[in-house]
Amino acid sequence: TIAPSPSTYAAPGEAGSLVEYRSRYDHFIGGEYVAPAGGQYFENPTPVTGKVFCEVARGDSTDVDRAVEAAWKAFPAWGRTSVAERATILNRIADRMEEHLEMLAVAETWENGKPIRETLGADIPLAIDHFRYFAGAIRAQEGSTGEIDHDTVAYHFHEPLGVVGQIIPWNFPILMAVWKLAPALAAGNCVVLKPAEQTPASIHVLVELIRDLLPAGVLNVVNGFGIEVGAPLAQHPDIRKVAFTGETTTGRLIMQYASQNLIPVTLELGGKSPNVFFADVAQEQDAFYDKALEGFAFFNLNQGEVCTCPSRALVAKEIYDGFVADGLDRVRAVKQGHPLDPSTMIGAQASNDQLEKILSYIDIGKQEGAKLLTGGERADLGGELSGGYYVTPTVFEGDNAMRIFQEEIFGPVLALTSFSGYDDAIRIANDTLYGLGAGVWSREATTLYRAGRDIQAGRVWSNTYHQYPAGAAFGGYKQSGIGRENHKMMLEHYQQTKNLLVSYAEGPMGFF
Ligand code: NAD
Repeated sequence: TIAPSPSTYAAPGEAGSLVEYRSRYDHFIGGEYVAPAGGQYFENPTPVTGKVFCEVARGDSTDVDRAVEAAWKAFPAWGRTSVAERATILNRIADRMEEHLEMLAVAETWENGKPIRETLGADIPLAIDHFRYFAGAIRAQEGSTGEIDHDTVAYHFHEPLGVVGQIIPWNFPILMAVWKLAPALAAGNCVVLKPAEQTPASIHVLVELIRDLLPAGVLNVVNGFGIEVGAPLAQHPDIRKVAFTGETTTGRLIMQYASQNLIPVTLELGGKSPNVFFADVAQEQDAFYDKALEGFAFFNLNQGEVCTCPSRALVAKEIYDGFVADGLDRVRAVKQGHPLDPSTMIGAQASNDQLEKILSYIDIGKQEGAKLLTGGERADLGGELSGGYYVTPTVFEGDNAMRIFQEEIFGPVLALTSFSGYDDAIRIANDTLYGLGAGVWSREATTLYRAGRDIQAGRVWSNTYHQYPAGAAFGGYKQSGIGRENHKMMLEHYQQTKNLLVSYAEGPMGFF
């Protein structure tokens, strides 16, 4: 048990806090806060202490209908704004967020339980940059003109889809919202967004901050549960696309819903990412070796609640004992504490359900005969944090066939195994239903390149991990999803192509 440290950032509700959460959040529809049609609200606890800090509208299909209608009302004007106008608005949103960076970071930490050093140093700055990136990308995008023959010309225009539905998870509430909002808005769409029921409030803090910058109805937020709001949104006959991030099983449902209206989907789903350490990593005990050890401990980022969590470590047999001993030292040095303390490295799991899911997988690992090398329990950080959802960083040694190697745990739980040679490493790395992320560590450029190409995953980090620049395409192979996020190619997921085929010939065509 690690003693709680005093926080530098005051908690919401305490004197001097940067964030004033409202006690109740309604839906945000047509530029206004709108009470839920059914009159119901649900309680929203902070994972930091387990205490409820606000209540949130529990939406239903009537609320979804209202939001879709409001979005279509806004679309004719918004869809015709110039790219320069939309880019200016996105840049203003980014500037506003930057002015309130610390406030947003505290709000996100309180909502999700993740350490302030991550929200302040990564999540919110990445979200800000995402708006700027798509403000630039949309201006740089060009249509095309093709000469079919001397008298006939094909013009291609990028047109927005119209109203799109976006459904997001709880692990990066603000960043996941922005990953979807920035390209959709840049491309001229209007949006109905459904936050995860576990983390609805920090998104409303963001919406409140930027609402005056967007015309009413361009962005609408309907709160609530998956079946009650997500399903009616994804099945709504008047949306033109659905973008979803969440579990693979839910992704299958989303695709079925979307098929009813024959609309496109993008899906960012689960993962069980391999992190492969080749033997030359331990050739010398230098700065690179140190970096690789940090890579080994990276499964703790965001409490392991990342779809790309490097949750399987594959270490070359030749270096296994020494590298793993040093890696475990690094894991044991991960500081767990109050998420608002800037020195905290690992905070709280996002919800009590998630905490219980992780603890049940720790039991499964033990029952399967995996060897527990460190951690493996709920952490009681004392005082008011005793009610929060903390798990100690956990490492199991075992075999890739085990459930803890195959199933997504979404917690700070590493499944560790060894490999004999390159082919064995690639075989184990690819022995998974998923294909979202992977890490490869080597001093040899050729090894990095070959492994990067041979591993079946949409993103392979080489000698780094968990970097998410807006300009690098992100998405899944196999059951990890369809489509990509980030990168300017994302704009095409929110656009349709209009072709004007024009004849400049003066004479008849000669058929009739
Ligand atoms: P989830 O699928 O249960 O929920 C995600 C969202 O979908 C929530 O807003 C939820 O309310 C909604 N939802 C649930 N059931 C629905 C239904 N039947 N119809 C419509 N919407 C529904 O997943 P979760 O537990 O919130 O999130 C964790 C999962 O998300 C993990 O498996 C993780 O791998 C994945 N994830 C993937 C990425 C990625 O980019 N690939 C990013 C973050 C999380």
